[in-house]
Amino acid sequence: MPELPETTVISEDVFALAGGRRVERAEVFRPDVTNVPPGEFTERLVGRTLEGTGRRGKVIVLDFGEVVGLVHLVISGRVLRLPEWSDPDRTNTAVLQFEGIEGVDGERPVVLAFTRLWLGYFNLYAPGEEEAHPLVSRLGPDPFSREFTVEYLRGAFRRKANVKGMLLDQSVVAGLGNIYVDEVLFAAKVNPMRRASTLTEREVRDLHAATTDILSRAISLRGTTFDSYHDAFGETGRFQEELQVFTRTGEPCPVCATPIVKTRVAGRGTHYCPTCQPA
Ligand SMILES: [Zn+2]
Repeated sequence: MPELPETTVISEDVFALAGGRRVERAEVFRPDVTNVPPGEFTERLVGRTLEGTGRRGKVIVLDFGEVVGLVHLVISGRVLRLPEWSDPDRTNTAVLQFEGIEGVDGERPVVLAFTRLWLGYFNLYAPGEEEAHPLVSRLGPDPFSREFTVEYLRGAFRRKANVKGMLLDQSVVAGLGNIYVDEVLFAAKVNPMRRASTLTEREVRDLHAATTDILSRAISLRGTTFDSYHDAFGETGRFQEELQVFTRTGEPCPVCATPIVKTRVAGRGTHYCPTCQPA
């Protein structure tokens, strides 16, 4: 599932290919992948120009002027470039065709497929209306926003929940998922099972710094990629080579050589070094 870095890359890649282009065709495979009837999905998008793209937490924002699309890719959801128009199906659950541009790539249209959306969604809203969407309205501060400060984090951590669960909670901080939380906790030398309220000032400061540092590095390496899918956006990342603990179970800790342990915290597979991150 794409986390903040991968969502950033996908959103930028979509803009690089389709930004400034008008939608010629737009169809969904079945009604449950969007919040409007399939006919309306087509009507509201065809003729609109993709004016910008962005991100709210792990949700991709597509700005079509009078229409805003929110795309949430989960599990193995991807954005793929198709060689030509292909009707949506079980895998390519929503397909958009953008106009070709004279002098660019032989005026070939850009066809994008959004895959496996029944697990996520491609919703359409009037501008501003998307703020009421539960997944957007309940989002905590973005790690790169001015609101995400050490003081903010210290306040949010005044709870007895474990620190891993707190960092996964999108209402605490938007955009982190299982991979980056494990990496951030390792970098800050904080045990994932620690109650957030027991963290020292120094530990909160280290966690805050590790969050922005690791996410920035991951974005610059185009995110973490476990499968390489040539035609998919956000699947050319190299941060998997930089992972210190995630998927490294049994391998020596890069700092102290203790084997990395995998356990379950906050319902998720959790990787940590028992020596560097003592309970
Ligand atoms: Zn270690």
